[in-house]
Amino acid sequence: MTRISITNTRSYEQPIVNKAVYEHMERFNLGKKLSPDTKVLIKPNLLMKRTPEEFTTTHPSIVEAVIIWLKENGISKITIADSPGGPYTATALKGIYHASGMTDICERHSITLNLDTSSRNIENKKGKLVKQFPIITPVCDADFIIDICKLKTHAMTGLSGAVKNLFGTIPGLTKPAYHARFPEKTPFCSMLVDLCETVSPDFILVDAIQAMEGNGPSGGTMRETGLILASDNPYDMDYCLCKIIGVNPKSILTVKESITRGLCCGDFDQLELIGEIHKQEPFRVPRESSLDFTTFLPPLIQRPVRAFVFHYLSAKPVIINEKCIGCGKCAESCPQKTIHIESKKAKIYYRNCIRCYCCHEMCPVKAIDIRRGLVSIK
Ligand code: SF4
Ligand code: SF4
Repeated sequence: MTRISITNTRSYEQPIVNKAVYEHMERFNLGKKLSPDTKVLIKPNLLMKRTPEEFTTTHPSIVEAVIIWLKENGISKITIADSPGGPYTATALKGIYHASGMTDICERHSITLNLDTSSRNIENKKGKLVKQFPIITPVCDADFIIDICKLKTHAMTGLSGAVKNLFGTIPGLTKPAYHARFPEKTPFCSMLVDLCETVSPDFILVDAIQAMEGNGPSGGTMRETGLILASDNPYDMDYCLCKIIGVNPKSILTVKESITRGLCCGDFDQLELIGEIHKQEPFRVPRESSLDFTTFLPPLIQRPVRAFVFHYLSAKPVIINEKCIGCGKCAESCPQKTIHIESKKAKIYYRNCIRCYCCHEMCPVKAIDIRRGLVSIK
């Protein structure tokens, strides 16, 4: 039975967060699992250059609480690393670390903030779609991985939680190549489960004090949820997060796939909850919906109907010209290279667009909206 530890934590004030994080670490007996020689890797969600107040990235107070606990327990080989969206260069990393508050924490506690942009290929023989991933070096070198994700809705995958956070272990612009290779949601989410099996995080913490609802993972609105959660199973954790945001877990394709593979129990009653989840209104979901009506059609015509629906009727990214500053970050992250900057404004050529929403995710000024189509497909 997977244990999910929950604390009602309504503020990011450091003493309050410390108390909650300490409780989680003790409940999982981490002191017994780690030694002074253990190399611990902290993987926050640092999607893009945003401040903690923009509720897009893992809040630094949670990362800091983990570091304080580790150091008090004699563990000092600690590295913080992530491969955010966009280019994976030392300069880009420094900017994101600074904005997200990670630089300050590392200076205060003399912790290594990863600037090594190399990666290694790691095999996963059990992988269903991908049997080998390029993984950033500090993740490969770690003995113990702490996945500290931010609870958010996500335009493509529905949920950004423990499993999706690990997409940031793939180096920089290699990520869009996976979108290009798996343009449809079902195989893309299956690939994410392969990746999670490869990285295999040891401990999960979820920053759900201020979550994001609506057009996540970067263009949504803040939702006060007042929770920090912990587990040692990323798949069951995501299942639990579905309950919190009020979506059917089977509509989240990473969760559905992990249930199929026997990685997730798929039953709320099978989770050992320590702590209480107060009833909440369901989260507003991204404009993209997940109904795949083509499954009701005869198999022979499913594919052409899907293609028609995809190109003409499904939700698509739309540039808001008045907001666009022509920075080109969307074009840089587009796996299909179908965005051009013309007269200092972004322009999307939809013919090759695979609806991965990387552009929407990476726009620093929320100048890309997702306009709902009449129907959408998985
Ligand atoms: S849409 Fe956003 S990311 Fe793209 S060029 Fe305009 S401001 Fe930059
Ligand atoms: S235009 Fe946006 S949604 Fe379409 S393929 Fe490029 S990044 Fe993905």
